[in-house]
Amino acid sequence: MPRKFFVGGNWKCNGTRESIAQICQEFAKGPSTADAEVEVVIGVPFISVDYTREKLRKDWAVAVQNCWVGKGGAFTGEVSAEMIKDAGVEWVILGHSERRHLPQLKESDETVAIKVAYALENGLKVMACIGELLEEREAGKTQEVNERQLAAIAAKLKEDDWKNVVIAYEPVWAIGTGKVASPEQAQEVHEQVRAWVAKNVSPAVAADVRILYGGSVTAKNCKELGGKPDVDGFLVGGASLKPEFLDIVDAYKAN
Ligand code: PEP
Repeated sequence: MPRKFFVGGNWKCNGTRESIAQICQEFAKGPSTADAEVEVVIGVPFISVDYTREKLRKDWAVAVQNCWVGKGGAFTGEVSAEMIKDAGVEWVILGHSERRHLPQLKESDETVAIKVAYALENGLKVMACIGELLEEREAGKTQEVNERQLAAIAAKLKEDDWKNVVIAYEPVWAIGTGKVASPEQAQEVHEQVRAWVAKNVSPAVAADVRILYGGSVTAKNCKELGGKPDVDGFLVGGASLKPEFLDIVDAYKAN
């Protein structure tokens, strides 16, 4: 079965009711994706879930950008997978580089993996992010880092869990920097990631799992990136807050 193109948005810590209503109005101008070979999911702050759901076109889904490591309880300020599911949210973004690397957060591979497993166990679908820092790329460690991050996650999942996971390869040096990976750089890593999944999970999972590219994707560069055989979509930060996101969704036609 061909892999359905997937375009995720990540609004990060942005948005007011006014700006959300405005961008949702812009998004409503694009053609329906209900029967198209593309799935679109917008990652919003917890506080904006209900409002975004109310305003966002109904053929696109909503995600949140984090969840607690386990069951809810005395964990002030946290939101559990059960609560996210109960709120009608289907997807969660986990392991985003900002959560892995911001000094205030510093989520480890193990923490990310625990979150992924718990979210899946509780019926959420997961965009699992991986990716190397600039110094890791420059030291020739891109593959090693991606495989280490993936291995931590894979160690906690059963083969069947992977049908509810998309992998987002997001080189940290390309996130929010305007410095996009070349289509060849993206394809090279995506191919390595798929090969790793084939060897360490199963060839069937490798054939089916969608691997997204993230890092300064724009309307300008999305078609060339999306045309690469192992690029099955995007995770988009900055441009998901702009009308050009519609053009990025449309890149499924180039795939
Ligand atoms: C992201 O936040 O996941 C991301 C890829 O950001 P940007 O598109 O702005 O680089």
